[in-house]
Amino acid sequence: MDVKTNGDVSFWYADIGGTPAYRPPLPGDAEADVCIVGAGYTGLWTAYYLKRADPALRIVVLEKEFAGYGASGRNGGWLSGGFSWSREKYEKASSRRGVIDMQAAMTGTVDEVISVADVEGIDADIRRTDELLVATNEAQEERAKAMHAHAKSWELTDERVAYIDAAQTRRRVAVHNARGAFVIKKVARVQPAKLVQGLAKAVARLGVPIYEQTTVLSIEKGKVTTNRGVVRAEKIVRATEGFTAGISGFERLWLPLNSAIVVTEPLPDSLWKEIGWDGHEVVGDCAHTYCYAQRTREGRIAMGGRGVPYRFGSATDKRGVTQQATIDQLHTILTTLLPRTKGLRLDHAWCGTLGVPRDWCTTVGFDRQTGIGWAGGYVGLGVSTSNLSGRTLRDLMLGRDTELTRLPWVNRTVKKWEPEPLRWLGVHAMYQLYQIADAREAQGLGRTSKLAALADRITGH
Ligand SMILES: Cc1cc2nc3c(=O)[nH]c(=O)nc-3n(C[C@H](O)[C@H](O)[C@H](O)COP(=O)(O)OP(=O)(O)OC[C@H]3O[C@@H](n4cnc5c(N)ncnc54)[C@H](O)[C@@H]3O)c2cc1C
Repeated sequence: MDVKTNGDVSFWYADIGGTPAYRPPLPGDAEADVCIVGAGYTGLWTAYYLKRADPALRIVVLEKEFAGYGASGRNGGWLSGGFSWSREKYEKASSRRGVIDMQAAMTGTVDEVISVADVEGIDADIRRTDELLVATNEAQEERAKAMHAHAKSWELTDERVAYIDAAQTRRRVAVHNARGAFVIKKVARVQPAKLVQGLAKAVARLGVPIYEQTTVLSIEKGKVTTNRGVVRAEKIVRATEGFTAGISGFERLWLPLNSAIVVTEPLPDSLWKEIGWDGHEVVGDCAHTYCYAQRTREGRIAMGGRGVPYRFGSATDKRGVTQQATIDQLHTILTTLLPRTKGLRLDHAWCGTLGVPRDWCTTVGFDRQTGIGWAGGYVGLGVSTSNLSGRTLRDLMLGRDTELTRLPWVNRTVKKWEPEPLRWLGVHAMYQLYQIADAREAQGLGRTSKLAALADRITGH
């Protein structure tokens, strides 16, 4: 399938007139109280909350490209309040109450992001809506119902989650073969680049310099070495998420998994009337190789999914250029779920990386001995989680003992990924098995394929 633009970071930048002009780089060696590495949502939220809590702090942010170059300027715009991955895994090292508190704190990020956007005058096309995870075959239906039951078992009430049947689903969005959907309420849709650009401006307005085109080469206690000079700081935050494997010493910490998105031309009103989607829900499916979509403010469809899952040696893309095979795959998913989109042009395609820890569970932390903090490994759910990271890092770095610093995701240690080629083989085997499992289920298997469970076991998913 042809696409007008491939890469150029993302459509979200084309939507606002192109990628921004660079801010100046680090002018040479410097000293600060806090040095934050990476100007995505995580680094920027951390700078925002820290500076507001203590305006006297000298904070600098270092960014190898421009603020919002990474996943924060490329994602699907689901501000979901969800988190990765397994409540049970967190529970093992904490308590049921702790996990429920964490779930509540994550849910609260949706309101928090919307309220800061209001206060700071950030217009990020934010729209409160529901998340629909649509089942299109019997096995998916079984999983969607199980997700609903599981959420309820973790005390999520009807205010927050629901299961809707085929007719109710199709009344919302005319997904072909829809058999029902798991609904998560009180989420929001955002335009990711508008959010990250607005946040960067808010941080700069507080007096925090963001030095762009400044690549961090190493992070040690009290010292960040870049290609432009050395920053000495008592406290340091590593906020490089899907790019973390590129920093010396962190090669096997978080695996950079690819995700890619295609965007259609704006749909004519007549087509929207057939499809519905009046609630602008964020919509995904229940496949193992799941997809995620949003209806943009201008009436386009942005549809994302995995594509080629992982590049050998943790390599990352070049300014978001993705493979033709991935574009074709996403187009097939789009036109299978919404066959009426078949004649539409694709205006843009791009990809980005998300950080995946070995146990697929996100973490935030601060080591008092070294003064180094971190947050990430969001496994594709960082739009809202990164906000909680920023507030949690603020409390940890200011030495505060708060409800946030006691949540079970704080200071968890996770084992590293295997060296290559095991890493590459494991991830590719997992996705191949998922694809076969999805195909068997689509052919009418009637239950979740055992191959999916095998895939999960291989990579600890
Ligand atoms: C295609 C795609 C779709 C997604 N969809 C969703 C979604 O709908 N909802 C959701 O919740 N999450 C989604 N995610 C995940 C979400 O976007 C991320 O979890 C989140 O943006 C991570 O923010 P971050 O600030 O931690 O990382 P990033 O935004 O990746 O920021 C890291 C920054 O660090 C910089 N950097 C890296 N290395 C260095 C270095 N050596 N020196 C200096 N700077 C460096 C990078 O340039 C980058 O700007 C998606 C991700 C992708 C890729």
